[in-house]
Amino acid sequence: MLLVISIFIIIAVVNTDVPLIHDRVMVPSGVINETLGADVNSDQDIQAANIKHDRVMVPSVVISETLGADVKSDQGVQAANIIIPGDAARAYLESEVTTNPKVKFQGQGMITLTFDDARKDFARVAVPIMQRYHLTATTFAITGWTDGSYNPSWSTKSGADGACSITQLQYCNSLGFEIAAHGDQHMNTEADLNACIVKLNQWGITRDGKVETFASPNNTVNSANISVNSKWFADAGLSCARSGIAVGSTNINVLNNMVYPPNNKYMLTASIITSKTTFTQLLPILQDAIKNKKWCILELHSILNPGDLGYGNDMWYWDASNFTQLCEWLSQMPESDGLVTTMRDGFKYASE
Ligand SMILES: [Zn+2]
Repeated sequence: MLLVISIFIIIAVVNTDVPLIHDRVMVPSGVINETLGADVNSDQDIQAANIKHDRVMVPSVVISETLGADVKSDQGVQAANIIIPGDAARAYLESEVTTNPKVKFQGQGMITLTFDDARKDFARVAVPIMQRYHLTATTFAITGWTDGSYNPSWSTKSGADGACSITQLQYCNSLGFEIAAHGDQHMNTEADLNACIVKLNQWGITRDGKVETFASPNNTVNSANISVNSKWFADAGLSCARSGIAVGSTNINVLNNMVYPPNNKYMLTASIITSKTTFTQLLPILQDAIKNKKWCILELHSILNPGDLGYGNDMWYWDASNFTQLCEWLSQMPESDGLVTTMRDGFKYASE
């Protein structure tokens, strides 16, 4: 079945037609076909696995939570009309197609997309775009923000959209995205890291029951404190940690890549993408990673569309059109030239 959903899918969920089976909503495919109408075009492969007995199985959690603010109840219709942006619709239709492609590391360059704070727009905006281009990434969750026990002081700015819910993180994990640690309350302390790890394990979003990577909040791990931090990173069982250029420093826009193996596995450096970064600025370091077989870790926060809450409020977001341009470029990169990989897998490859 070949589909591209270009604008919106509107699924009319009519109570009698839509049984709940094992927490999945069975939507008659006829409903989708009819409702899609002219929005159905022809070049995106959607695996037949998603179409069962003439019905499309949609996990109800995807509808109710993963799409977040984009799931709206149409007041004018008795039954709920669920309006799903094309990208998000594509994401769930492809959700049983693995996003974690079988990659083969042969010493080529690596590019890792990391998203700090696991903001709600990660699930709402970034994941659907990455799904479209079959890319994977790592998001670093502030677990206290995720479960509502902690509210960052900056959450009313670019984080105004809120944090991903636990369910959203579980869904992203099921798609092959790495959900990693960023503290329970965004602190660089042993206790806060450990509290975060306990929750990630409880939520079942670790690989083999292990939290493998950590991003230092505000990139405060540096050469002055690394010897102390290294001890609790090791005690927590982390395989590596990301730091980078300290937030607030004057050279925050410096873009750099790492060579293999990393100089210090607990202080992997990232290049920070802010609202002012352009794809043209980014391109040379992507090309450097490919040409010179380096590891390029990009540190992103929110991915927002104009008009989204928080857009334009501060520097900690990147316009979704820039991000789409990056993803398209990455998807066209031959695997023999460079891999797009998570932090945990990138570290594993870089250490081989
Ligand atoms: Zn952060």
